[in-house]
Amino acid sequence: LAKKAGRSCYRFYTAAIQQKATRHLQLVNALRTALDQQQLSIHYQPQLAMTDGRLVGAEALLRWNHPELGSISPGEFIPVAEDCGLILQLGEWVLRQAVRQARQWRDQGLALVMAVNLSAVQFRQADLPALVARILQEEGLPASCLELELTEGVAMYDPQQAIAVMNALHEQGVRMSIDDFGTGYSSLNLLKQFRVYKLKIDQTFVRDIETDPEDSALVAAIIHMADSLGLLTIAEGVETAAQLEILRSHGCKELQGYWFSRPLPAAEFTAYARQHQATASASG
Ligand code: C2E
Ligand code: MG
Ligand code: MG
Ligand code: MG
Repeated sequence: LAKKAGRSCYRFYTAAIQQKATRHLQLVNALRTALDQQQLSIHYQPQLAMTDGRLVGAEALLRWNHPELGSISPGEFIPVAEDCGLILQLGEWVLRQAVRQARQWRDQGLALVMAVNLSAVQFRQADLPALVARILQEEGLPASCLELELTEGVAMYDPQQAIAVMNALHEQGVRMSIDDFGTGYSSLNLLKQFRVYKLKIDQTFVRDIETDPEDSALVAAIIHMADSLGLLTIAEGVETAAQLEILRSHGCKELQGYWFSRPLPAAEFTAYARQHQATASASG
């Protein structure tokens, strides 16, 4: 009986692997045409200052809606795009669209820092600083209005190269933040060597901050460390007023999460910003 169970387990296992491989191939093929067929779009999520609730930034988040496969989350397709090299093309597209959008908002009197997620694969391109400079110049956005979000994985492949790329971007005036801070293993190393501007406290620490004293202590420690190093802090995944109050008591500087707004299509973000500005000036 055990042997039989073992065998069916094995069959189940290989079937699962096969299913995963099929899905992977399917996504690679679908991704190749996604850009040309205009299946990709960008949503923008507000970032607010703790002190006065001012809207200070927007994070650009890629969305993919496939006619047959439906909407596919970036958590699933970004790793696929990284594997097959398409991330370079997608990443450049996101960067240009987001920079263009930031410029349009600026022209409408809405000054924001645009935060764009960058894959570690993009970071391995020695010409990344030149690409960023070209896009900023062509779209007419000051470098100080762009923030690049990196994950701790950027340093894994070739730290020396990553440092050179970061130095070049820093010299251009582009800001860099570490995304999902606290979940990688090289966090402290990164802080020491890289020209980081802001830490994004990962949402896994924020989620249970009301009930888990350890999470609360960790968040307090991250903010304290960031303060001493002269780095900004933003909390990701803020979903409740109680989380907000705890983050305030710990001295977190900026906030992002569903409590304020989900990521929105550009037009809806514009409406949110107008509404937000109106309430802020009415109350202050
Ligand atoms: P991330 O950069 O850490 O982005 C934050 C994620 O948390 C987003 O998921 C956002 O929609 C979600 N989120 C925001 N507020 C809340 C909240 O209050 N509660 C919860 N539960 N979630 C919240 P999304 O859009 O599915 O993106 C997932 C990940 O995919 C991103 O994590 C980022 O690593 C990656 N990604 C998205 N767009 C791009 C891109 O253009 N380029 C690259 N390289 N990666 C991207
Ligand atoms: Mg991010
Ligand atoms: Mg994150
Ligand atoms: Mg993430």
